[in-house]
Amino acid sequence: MTKTVLITGCSSGLGRMTAIHFASQGWNVIATMRKPEPELAENHPGRVLVHPLDVSDRQSVDTAIAAGVEHFGGLDAIVNNAGITMLSVFEATPAEAFRRIFETNVFGVVNVIQSALPHLRQRARSTIVNVSSGVGFAAVPLLSAYVASKHAIEGLSESLSYELESQNIGIKLVEPGAMRNTNFTATGMSASEAAVVPEGYKTYFDHALQSMINYPFASTDEKSVAEAIYAAASDSSGRLRYVVGPDVEEYARLRWSTSEDHYLAEMSRLTGQSAWREMAK
Ligand code: NAP
Repeated sequence: MTKTVLITGCSSGLGRMTAIHFASQGWNVIATMRKPEPELAENHPGRVLVHPLDVSDRQSVDTAIAAGVEHFGGLDAIVNNAGITMLSVFEATPAEAFRRIFETNVFGVVNVIQSALPHLRQRARSTIVNVSSGVGFAAVPLLSAYVASKHAIEGLSESLSYELESQNIGIKLVEPGAMRNTNFTATGMSASEAAVVPEGYKTYFDHALQSMINYPFASTDEKSVAEAIYAAASDSSGRLRYVVGPDVEEYARLRWSTSEDHYLAEMSRLTGQSAWREMAK
């Protein structure tokens, strides 16, 4: 039987690439986005249903899932891909902006999972893939709201991986590295305009930002992340994490194969923090 996946945030970047990849592998795809564009459905006739869905609006989530299930006859997997970020000094980050990131990256995922579960439970085996990030388990500065939201997704996923085993539903965390060909950085930079850098942070902010720009790792292409999402959705083993990209592979090695002291020292080096300490002396 042809399998069906629902994916959030298919208007651009990773979500769009993932929808195309699942369709190319013969899956039915409910490609959701806030402002539907017909292109994905037109390019994959009969295979892709484009439907509006705003993850922060539970009614919109319920409507999209009901329409997708009605159209394709069931649901085998969901991919929680929609996400936003913001580059800002924590002290200057408006509470409203912090909340918006959690409404999308955390409560959006909660909305989609809770709405999909009654349908996923109808299948003998189904899968939930949550798109996290390397910063879901390794923190970096100037992205506190985003880092906190992805850490929340990691904890939620690990907890659910136990609970939903009882329902034969697998939970997967895909942790991509920096992808430079999506809209993510531009959207995040535009959100950052709401947070003016306080005078006392200016030198530090410029240094940390430059360290981020100078990161010593190649970027990750969305295609390889889309392939990892597909592999995760098709993997019936109990594996939780799928790390994709050279930067995140290094974070994972430091986090789980070295001591806490070594991990913190190396992350300080990679984020430019140790250089900052020297400069500030
Ligand atoms: P992107 O091109 O900006 O895509 C983000 C998608 O999320 C867009 O389709 C956007 O839709 C959608 N979205 C935002 N708010 C939404 C809402 N309330 N409801 C529904 N959809 C919403 O960025 P991307 O890089 O592909 O990001 C995809 C995922 O990868 C995110 O979860 C992100 O955290 C993760 N990730 C990205 C990177 C990276 O370096 N790019 C690294 C690690 C992880 P609109 O067009 O309507 O705004």
